Amino acid sequence: MHWADSFLSSRKGDQVISTGISPSGPIHVGNMREILTGDIVYRAARKLGMKSRFLYLCDDIDPLRRVYPFLKPEYSEHVGKPLYRIPSPDGNGTYAQHYVAPFLDSLKKLEVDVEVIYSSELYASGKFYEYIRKVIEEREKIASILEEVSGRKIGRGWFPYSPLCAKCGKINSAIPFSFEDPYVNYECNCGHTGKSDIRRDEGKMPWRVEWPAKWALLGVTIEPIGKDHGAAGGAFESSKRIASEIFGVPGPDTIVYERVMWKGRGPMHSSTGVAIEISEALKFTPEEALRFFIAKGNPGRHLDFDPGLGLLSLTDDCEKYFNAYSGTDSISDPDFREIVEYSGISGFHGPIEPSFRHLATIVQIYSDSESILRSLSRGGREFSVMDKNLEERIDKVKYWLENFAPDMVKFGMLPKGTRVELSGEEKRVLERFLDSVTSAEWDAQKIHDLVYLIASEESMDPPEVFRVFYRVLIGKDRGPRLGFFLSSMDRRRVTERLRECI
Ligand SMILES: [Zn+2]
Repeated sequence: MHWADSFLSSRKGDQVISTGISPSGPIHVGNMREILTGDIVYRAARKLGMKSRFLYLCDDIDPLRRVYPFLKPEYSEHVGKPLYRIPSPDGNGTYAQHYVAPFLDSLKKLEVDVEVIYSSELYASGKFYEYIRKVIEEREKIASILEEVSGRKIGRGWFPYSPLCAKCGKINSAIPFSFEDPYVNYECNCGHTGKSDIRRDEGKMPWRVEWPAKWALLGVTIEPIGKDHGAAGGAFESSKRIASEIFGVPGPDTIVYERVMWKGRGPMHSSTGVAIEISEALKFTPEEALRFFIAKGNPGRHLDFDPGLGLLSLTDDCEKYFNAYSGTDSISDPDFREIVEYSGISGFHGPIEPSFRHLATIVQIYSDSESILRSLSRGGREFSVMDKNLEERIDKVKYWLENFAPDMVKFGMLPKGTRVELSGEEKRVLERFLDSVTSAEWDAQKIHDLVYLIASEESMDPPEVFRVFYRVLIGKDRGPRLGFFLSSMDRRRVTERLRECI
């Protein structure tokens, strides 16, 4: 059973699935695991007929914690201010919107159907008012829960509300000294004394208290969480207790997910720069393949995202699943149907043609649409027009080749007339090929078989024979799978080139 179905199998009734990613920096493929895990459970719940909501809580009232490596040094004056009150790095709108907008745009492309809720609005609308009053009243009890769970001492006078200083604009600098409902009186480190109205966005709860307050306010029943939060003694454990002992709600069940690594570089994290923004990943990864990446792997296992050669393995794997779903291939994974259903965009379940790998070769042979279409049509299926979908795929392939593909998959066709020194044996290989290949046999498998036959008759290793073709056509020792590579080209173009090199 697929992990999402298995998670839901013991549940009944309406579900509210919640996710949260802070817009403190570029939202990357590692963060995406949270939202796609939630979305896959949401798709599964709808399939089971459970009435459900799927939420993305955008923590835009959180303070900027430090000047991250991707920010200009001038941002030091904004450290401590809420993200929705800081100017955007590009001068348009707010800091939070700057990072949220491309993320939401990517979610649309991935068909993640989520309700976006901004934490600043939950405060500004007064929806948190009752909850804030409650946590202030019960602050001693909450402090002892936090101490018990975390094992850390919490100082006397701890106050579960951070006022926003009306003078310096920071949300982590003012110290509350009394509460006169609905006002929290404070004195800020900047010297200002004031009061903040808890019915408005004039302050916030610390996140370990805010988290269970959100669960209670929104009735959250399911939340995917990163394994750091899920550890014993961690924030999830204390939040569950606060939810039940203070707010009288059970709090959600969790799906604990492991990290996403950038293969060879470590865990993705925007503050370390080891991160690929989702909008960037979508410039070269097909949408269904990115969903497939999350849908296929069990959340408890870490994932390696490899934007280099690994992208071809990912797209090959994804295409195999989609092709199996649509009956043009077969696969032994018993969950393949669910995986495809949770990965598909606009109800598309395959087959995927042409493959990403195939396109990556063709766009390096031909640059104009007409030749690309003609070449694709040699594979069996007719491609008569460059539709939007195909155009987008070609753009992704090109972006990948320009920015992420390793040199071993890149090549350029040698212009007509380029001289290549060949030995007598090498020339004989090409002659035999030209003598044997007929137009009826201009097909990937038949070319492949013919090259193997020539290799055995000449007592050469097949890779040696392949190399002769690659040297003559692209000036390299290696290249795309030969039968398929040659058949992607016009037969005459190939035979003329081989002939001029003999
Ligand atoms: Zn201040």
